[in-house]
Amino acid sequence: MTVAGDVVLQVEDLHKSFGSTEVLKGIDLSVRRGERIAILGSSGSGKSTLLRCLNVLEMPTRGRLILDGEAVGKPAAGGGTRYREAELNRLRARVGMVFQQFNLFPHMTALENVMEGPLSVLGRSRAEARRTAQRHLERVGLGGKAEAHPARLSGGQQQRVAIARALAMDPEVLLFDEPTSSLDPELVGEVLGVINDLSEDGRTMLLVTHELGFAYHFATRILFLHEGRILEDGPPEQVLKSPREERTRRFLDRFT
Ligand code: ADP
Ligand code: MG
Repeated sequence: MTVAGDVVLQVEDLHKSFGSTEVLKGIDLSVRRGERIAILGSSGSGKSTLLRCLNVLEMPTRGRLILDGEAVGKPAAGGGTRYREAELNRLRARVGMVFQQFNLFPHMTALENVMEGPLSVLGRSRAEARRTAQRHLERVGLGGKAEAHPARLSGGQQQRVAIARALAMDPEVLLFDEPTSSLDPELVGEVLGVINDLSEDGRTMLLVTHELGFAYHFATRILFLHEGRILEDGPPEQVLKSPREERTRRFLDRFT
């Protein structure tokens, strides 16, 4: 049985290096079901790498991921972890991701984009995949755009399709990596509005963003990442209004 408030995702001593550069320097994080966590930090602090490690788009160099009480992958020599392909596909279905650059399939319609995961990963029938895809497009306010190709949609609409595509997999954890950073300013609100609407589902979400005002209202918890470490972890009120660390204060000052 799963209960709101259980630990859904546990990250233990996560390290990630690219060549000789260590980008994540030991991340420990316990994510409870239903938490909405905003991740803040300067460019290059490791926010994207952290999210990408959480659904193993990047292989952690060291450390453990535990999803729903089960360790992901098998320990390997040298402190790393081995992952089997089938396991990775399952994991990526359970931990969904929305990217800054949408990453839609350009040759597919909006509906086909949303159907693809349920068809190919979850093995749903076409009829069922179509039904749920249409429902998810409606959820993000794009019920009328099912037959449009991405090139015919605005950036905000493309990102809403990408959100529908992630939702169609019914992930336990949904990751957003700066979902509004490549949008024209007038399109940011519609995407944040959709993300905010998802709060009522009680789904666990981790959101990397520079929209501090949105983070303040949306998040139940805020992390501040600095040079590959979590420097601050607390309720929005505390982290944004009375941060413990001088580094956090300096970061926040840039937004005021
Ligand atoms: P953020 O999302 O906080 O801006 P990233 O996680 O994208 O930071 O990057 C953190 C650091 O890791 C940066 O210095 C970046 O250049 C480096 N990095 C990220 N991905 C790679 C990669 N695939 N190969 C080499 N270096 C990388
Ligand atoms: Mg990034």
